[in-house]
Amino acid sequence: MTELLLDLSFACTHCDQITYLTVHCSGASLAAGPRITAKTDAPCYGCGKYHAIHFHPTGEVISVEPSRSPCGGPIPSRN
Ligand SMILES: [Zn+2]
Repeated sequence: MTELLLDLSFACTHCDQITYLTVHCSGASLAAGPRITAKTDAPCYGCGKYHAIHFHPTGEVISVEPSRSPCGGPIPSRN
């Protein structure tokens, strides 16, 4: 199985703080080549807002957009 450890960085769309993260990629899709895209969700160091980070397995970040937390955000109360 192909596995990669990548160091990525992105600028927060809310507060412009640069956040650095390391992602672990694995799976058969990595064999498709460097132009496939992967996605991870990560919070900003500065404000904590989550972002969807799309990147190539070369470590090149393609796009960053605000997202809800990986668990789907707050669960509404039934009250
Ligand atoms: Zn931020």
